[in-house]
Amino acid sequence: MFTSGSELKGDKHYDVCVIGSGAGGAIVAHELTKAGFQVIVLEEGGHYTHKDFKMREDQAFPTLYQESGSRTTKDLGVSILQGRAVGGTTVVNWTTSFRTPDSTLDHWKKKHAVGGFSVTDLNPHWDAVEQRLSIAQIDLLETNRNNRTLYDGCKALGLEVSTLRRNVKNCLKSGYCGLGCPVDAKQSMLVTYLPDAVAAGATVVSRCRVDKLVTEAGKVVAAECSLIGDDNYSATGRNLTIRADRFVLSAGAIGSPTILMRSGLSGPLVGRRTFLHPVIGSSAHWAEPINPFYGAPQSVASHAFAHRGEGKVGLFLEAAPLQPMLAALATSNFGEAHAQMMAALPHTSAHIALAIDGFTDGETGGTVEVRESGAPILDYPLPPVIWEALKEGLRQLIKIDLAAGAKEVFSSHDPMLSFKSEKDLAQLDNAAFETGRVAVFSAHVMGGCKMGDEAASSVVRSNDLRHHTLTNLHVVDGSVFPTSLGVNPQLSIYGLSHLMSARFVGEWKHG
Ligand SMILES: Cc1cc2nc3c(=O)[nH]c(=O)nc-3n(C[C@H](O)[C@H](O)[C@H](O)COP(=O)(O)OP(=O)(O)OC[C@H]3O[C@@H](n4cnc5c(N)ncnc54)[C@H](O)[C@@H]3O)c2cc1C
Ligand code: SF4
Repeated sequence: MFTSGSELKGDKHYDVCVIGSGAGGAIVAHELTKAGFQVIVLEEGGHYTHKDFKMREDQAFPTLYQESGSRTTKDLGVSILQGRAVGGTTVVNWTTSFRTPDSTLDHWKKKHAVGGFSVTDLNPHWDAVEQRLSIAQIDLLETNRNNRTLYDGCKALGLEVSTLRRNVKNCLKSGYCGLGCPVDAKQSMLVTYLPDAVAAGATVVSRCRVDKLVTEAGKVVAAECSLIGDDNYSATGRNLTIRADRFVLSAGAIGSPTILMRSGLSGPLVGRRTFLHPVIGSSAHWAEPINPFYGAPQSVASHAFAHRGEGKVGLFLEAAPLQPMLAALATSNFGEAHAQMMAALPHTSAHIALAIDGFTDGETGGTVEVRESGAPILDYPLPPVIWEALKEGLRQLIKIDLAAGAKEVFSSHDPMLSFKSEKDLAQLDNAAFETGRVAVFSAHVMGGCKMGDEAASSVVRSNDLRHHTLTNLHVVDGSVFPTSLGVNPQLSIYGLSHLMSARFVGEWKHG
């Protein structure tokens, strides 16, 4: 059943307690329940459904996003979008579905001792998830103008570009994936694996924040929770303790390490190596209507710059939907200039370059810290190699926009820079690429509970994502990645979660 924390009595003992109901947690919950385990899922966010999704940013951000969408890094340099609801970030994501690149898996094996699974192990699990989530490639004719201009610009410059795969069924192409799908076309965890898990007998508890794990003799014995009130944020003052034989931490990157740290289970590695795919954007004005708020939000990607050579941070390029609030926040101008940018929104495109962080020597990523209140904050001052990549990403986006026929392209600097021809690119040489001078975003938070086969350099083992010392605690979410991915994360997490669930069932049934 789906229930809220206030309706649950904490007197039952479960086989498995899953913490977090997003990409990692939902699949584990389903696969284990289906195999006969008694499973409870504890989720901090509320249980919202298609009836609540009104395509309004003022309603969606406070209800569906961490910190109402205003989470940032400690130095305020990077804005971080992360979901917080039953279904996790999959409720608000933009449906882009890529398997983990072979080159990323190879790098993990060579540099991070991730020897516990291979692409051959993952393939049947990706097949199964892709079937359940109706993942299929979008036709070029179905892309909106925002994505099509990216495609055309890449083609004009001879760059690799293609349409991408989406997890949707009967998508009406409203463009509002980021605010929750109003017609259940998006095959998020909210409408697939979680209802499947509940139908098989799982209990999914909303507004129930896990504060701490309690340990005894090298095992986790309970999760101590605070119940969250109707305002979706304040603690009610009421607590719940959930006991189980095994615990699966799936509270996402930032979330999972935070729970370990609040429980005094951190050690030197927990929260370290958190990566963001830091994003820089170009906006461009076009004679024709673009309407960047309508249509499949992401349907085209280029990986032409993913491998830029030794010592350089790679990039991939995509489009981003631009609803009015997001557009207003992404625009650094004030007053009349800002009003003009907003008035031009229907004729504006938004293209993004995502830096593939964590692969060059010396990159350490961000570190999760826990504030006095118990809330997390990510310290991630971007290093020079990332700024170099973001500058190059912006340069390429501007060239692509101009090649596709944009009248004028803008950077996200404060004040914005304007580019009407390739001659103007020289401005980038002296432009400030540093914290606070140009907007940087992230919607892909990864790492913080690194997997690997050496206890000295990782938090969980790679063959079963089990904590190196706590023998009944597993971490199954995006926090286990040793670097970023080089592609949008959801399908990497789904595949890994499905594979690990199969291993859990095999081991635990006999254990
Ligand atoms: C706007 C946006 C667009 C995106 N678009 C795409 C896309 O198109 N394609 C793609 O591949 N990826 C996309 N992503 C990213 C992708 O959705 C995430 O990487 C993925 O969902 C992460 O899965 P996870 O299991 O690690 O965490 P999540 O899915 O974030 O789930 C973690 C859950 O744990 C809960 N939680 C945290 N702390 C606690 C606690 N203490 N107690 C209880 N519960 C807790 C959270 O509320 C959350 O519901 C997007 C992200 C955003 C924000
Ligand atoms: S674009 Fe499609 S999947 Fe996204 S919210 Fe609209 S109907 Fe749902």
